Amino acid sequence: MEDNFIRKFMTSIKCSSCGQHYGMSNVTVLGRQEDLWFLSVFCPACYTPCLVAAIVKEGKPTRITDLTDAERQKFNESGKLSIDDSLDMYNFLKSFNGNFSELFIPK
Ligand SMILES: [Zn+2]
Repeated sequence: MEDNFIRKFMTSIKCSSCGQHYGMSNVTVLGRQEDLWFLSVFCPACYTPCLVAAIVKEGKPTRITDLTDAERQKFNESGKLSIDDSLDMYNFLKSFNGNFSELFIPK
């Protein structure tokens, strides 16, 4: 796998500080050991540096999830979150007492 592949992949990642996408020239490959890459990146907008360790396997992409097949099917078929969904959650959390046990453990 070429260095340019991992640099191109990193352009799909956003800076955690400001949300700007990294450019290929913002990525330096520090080293690689089989599928494990060590990268140094800096944001082109806010110049925040970041060290990245990434496991990249060649071949068919795999998704790591703890969702069951039924749950994945359900979420694939559901629509995107709307502004109203966000507002509903905001209002819920605003009045939430912080006791998650009461939410998830039946009485
Ligand atoms: Zn940034």
